[in-house]
Amino acid sequence: MKDKISIIGAGLVGSLLAVILKQKGFDVQIFEKRKDPRKSGAAGGRSINLALSHRGIRPLRVAGVYEKIEPYLIPMHGRMMHDQAGELTFQPYGKEGQFINSVSRAQLNELLIESAEEAGVEVFFDHKCGDINFDSNMLHFEHGKEMKSDLIIGTDGAFSAIRKKLQFTDRFNFSQHYIEHGYKELEIQPKENTFRLEPNYLHIWPRGNFMLIALPNADKTFTCTLFFPFEGNPSFSTLKTKADVEAFFEQYFKDALELIPDLSEQFFTNPTSSLVTTKCEPWHKNRSILLGDAAHAIVPFYGQGMNSGFEDVRLFVELAEELDWNWDKILPLYSSRRKKDADAISELALHNFIEMRDHVADPDFLRRKKLESQIQEKYPKEWIPLYSMVTFSDIPYSEALKLGKLQKKVMDEFLELKESEVNYDQVIQRFNALKKGD
Ligand SMILES: Cc1cc2nc3c(=O)[nH]c(=O)nc-3n(C[C@H](O)[C@H](O)[C@H](O)COP(=O)(O)OP(=O)(O)OC[C@H]3O[C@@H](n4cnc5c(N)ncnc54)[C@H](O)[C@@H]3O)c2cc1C
Repeated sequence: MKDKISIIGAGLVGSLLAVILKQKGFDVQIFEKRKDPRKSGAAGGRSINLALSHRGIRPLRVAGVYEKIEPYLIPMHGRMMHDQAGELTFQPYGKEGQFINSVSRAQLNELLIESAEEAGVEVFFDHKCGDINFDSNMLHFEHGKEMKSDLIIGTDGAFSAIRKKLQFTDRFNFSQHYIEHGYKELEIQPKENTFRLEPNYLHIWPRGNFMLIALPNADKTFTCTLFFPFEGNPSFSTLKTKADVEAFFEQYFKDALELIPDLSEQFFTNPTSSLVTTKCEPWHKNRSILLGDAAHAIVPFYGQGMNSGFEDVRLFVELAEELDWNWDKILPLYSSRRKKDADAISELALHNFIEMRDHVADPDFLRRKKLESQIQEKYPKEWIPLYSMVTFSDIPYSEALKLGKLQKKVMDEFLELKESEVNYDQVIQRFNALKKGD
């Protein structure tokens, strides 16, 4: 008889994990506090669409659900930058043929829940987990139901109830950090059933301390997200009236303003949300463990929150197989091995905000990108740009972060030279020497 596994949260990570564990023969149940999103309409998620890339796609393939999801994806081949005069500049994300994908959060979540049910997982909606006993493996739900399991997995998101309970256990470390920026989503409607911007790009309006981005949706709308400080000037706190909002967009995002005729209505109707990073350790206690945002919520600027959560699922299951499903060995080892990668992507995500909003358009950044693409062209195996390591590879995030820092050091040195003086053999020799610790 295989173990009974209870998963808390039928979000993106919990639903995918349930599919795979059920396929491995376990008795899997998911408990979700919301109503069934397929019956109640909108999933009530935090963002309307998400960028799905390699680390997320690989576990979806492992679960055999990628084919179902692929038709809903919109490829984005690079960044399309909009400057203040409305001029556009394109920066590819990787090599030719490499792209990331825009996907609707609600659609992806529904497809994953459906796949879990098809695999034979029982999904209980309207089941808010309120308490957990880590010694008896007993879950308590708000309407009185109780459930005992052999393994409990908390995939209940950034404000995880399971994690809150871990905070009352011995020697548990927890930190959370809200950045000074929040975000607001706005929609660009199609015109005569066509996209109002080129659909196969992630559009960015970088403006120093803030930015607007837009990702395409299958219904030919774009979801724009304004990342903007809560306080200061300009900030959410200074945009008080319709006239304030329109004047602000007129000044900074004129070409976007033209595409959102009901801008101020949307601006004052749609919520302003916060962005938080959470860190904790250990992620497990006895026979309970956290995965996904419950273990490590990050800011969205590398498009890696969900992707890293899906990668958690793959790595957790791979380790479990390697250790013959011995939970007492798997849980502590998984927590300690994966933690450094979660910390690394957390740092990378915070740093990428500065790059996206502030650097993508500046001449030094563009020179650096040019130098990097030349090095990569000459040494494609030895030099993989940081963005590509994070987005298009399985290189552990901590390794990518380390290599990225060395690459920066090498580029800082060679950028001192004139372009014609750069010897790419020397660049790669220097990089290899730094990797060896010379
Ligand atoms: C603005 C924004 C943009 C983003 N863009 C991207 C992107 O482009 N690419 C990317 O990879 N990531 C992105 N992310 C991150 C991504 O949304 C998260 O990393 C991802 O949703 C985490 O999945 P999860 O399943 O761990 O948590 P969640 O998706 O939050 O799911 C948690 C589930 O648990 C349920 N739950 C909560 N508490 C309980 C309880 N007590 N009992 C029962 N159920 C409970 C919730 O209802 C929910 O269904 C973005 C995030 C934000 C905020």
